[in-house]
Amino acid sequence: MPKPQKKNRSNSLIPPVLVSSCLLGVCCRYDGSGALDRQLIGRLQRDGSPIIPVCPEQLGGLPTPRPPAEIEHGDGHTVLAGEARLIDAHGADVTEAYVRGAREALRIAKLLGCRCAWLKEKSPACGVEKIKDGDQTRPGMGVAAALLKSAGVEVFGVGPCA
Ligand code: SF4
Repeated sequence: MPKPQKKNRSNSLIPPVLVSSCLLGVCCRYDGSGALDRQLIGRLQRDGSPIIPVCPEQLGGLPTPRPPAEIEHGDGHTVLAGEARLIDAHGADVTEAYVRGAREALRIAKLLGCRCAWLKEKSPACGVEKIKDGDQTRPGMGVAAALLKSAGVEVFGVGPCA
């Protein structure tokens, strides 16, 4: 049985929010590090939003640590449309894992009624405004961010875009 959602001061239900696990300090990034964002956690705690951590790369079955991957010639939307691929630093095609992880993140969002997600910028899974491109970044969404957005979940990017 899912736990009942918290209520705010006006006694209305506060929907849970999806958050990139690494922003909560979980060491799930490709290099085994985290990206703890205390400001974000403080904000969400003040809002009283139940926090649901998700790492779409791990949910897709990728190990930690893992070789970094990038979207080749496209972004999350074109990956989901089957028009672009994700290739890791060893040259392996990891597209399927990224799509699987995005679907799992969406499944969790739907199951728990998350209406918004706070996601780590520049990631090929979680990036909202920007994704990595070599040593640079370029405009585009990651695969999980694109799928969540297309399903009506409001997505917010966290962290520097540059
Ligand atoms: S997939 Fe998202 S949650 Fe997982 S490490 Fe990358 S940015 Fe963080």
